Amino acid sequence: MSIKDLFQQKTVFSFEVFPPKKTSSIDVIYKTLDELHDLKPDFISVTFSAGGSSNNTYALDIASRIKENGVAPMIHLPCINYTKEEITETLEQIKARGIENILALRGDINPDIPPKKDFAHASDLIEFIKEKGNFDIAGACYPEVHPDADSIVDDLRNLKKKVDSGASHLISQLFFDNDAFYQFREKAELAGIDVPIEAGIMPVVNKNQIERMVTTCGASLPNKFVRIMQKYEHNPEALRDAGIAYAVNQIVDLAASGVDGIHLYTMNNAYVARKISEAISGIIGA
Ligand code: FAD
Repeated sequence: MSIKDLFQQKTVFSFEVFPPKKTSSIDVIYKTLDELHDLKPDFISVTFSAGGSSNNTYALDIASRIKENGVAPMIHLPCINYTKEEITETLEQIKARGIENILALRGDINPDIPPKKDFAHASDLIEFIKEKGNFDIAGACYPEVHPDADSIVDDLRNLKKKVDSGASHLISQLFFDNDAFYQFREKAELAGIDVPIEAGIMPVVNKNQIERMVTTCGASLPNKFVRIMQKYEHNPEALRDAGIAYAVNQIVDLAASGVDGIHLYTMNNAYVARKISEAISGIIGA
């Protein structure tokens, strides 16, 4: 069954993984994947570097491995630093490996890499992919507004264009305040965006992540979240457990509010994914 159709049946539960650095062996992630497969997610998505900072052949190999293990893979595909010829070549590789699901993205604009001019927005890529084959295409969305957007209204208009060009479901940027997601979902509905929206949940389980969240992520940090992080930042085990509990709380509330799906940013941490999966197994799909 395609991911698109799965949303009609259940609350979708998916994972995201990223490829190892160019200099690392791919075997480490294969071990993680084997553990993630046991948790029976509906699909696993694999990130793809817009600027070549990680090994994109690894990304395709990981997606193939996911498929071999009987889980649907989704490959991310950012376009801003690629020409039409390069994207066509990658699409051919994706097709040859039997991968049907693509998360079509613009990619972040890196000040050191001048964008190639063929694709300005994810919606341009979606139109292009539609011409090239029969893929199931998802897009990204931003409950707290994309940082480049002038206003929430512009961002929603652009999101509507993305859906109209052929995105059959959306995966959200991470957030820690469920109310931000609910408000976004309501506004998206008013804007006529009627495809399923998966909520992106990032369990914050170590100190490096906290620092990254505070400085770069742009998601609002509720007092409850800040209190937990401050209290446990110097106690790795307590921080890990608190981060897992916070994510579980978010998911329970989202499920009770009828969310279409949960996309777990696993950070390649199978232990954390397992703890969360076990805690919500009776809730997702109930
Ligand atoms: P777009 O949809 O193109 O939007 C970008 C900006 O342009 C927004 O401000 C939007 O309002 C505006 N816009 C969109 N369409 C139009 C239009 N037609 N006219 C005018 N303005 C428009 N990056 C990677 O490099 N690799 C990954 O694997 C990756 N995975 C991700 C997974 C998820 C779930 C998410 C949420 C993000 C991911 N990213 C990844 C990051 C993403 O590439 C960046 O957030 C990027 O800045 C925006 O990508 P987008 O596809 O949302 O862009």
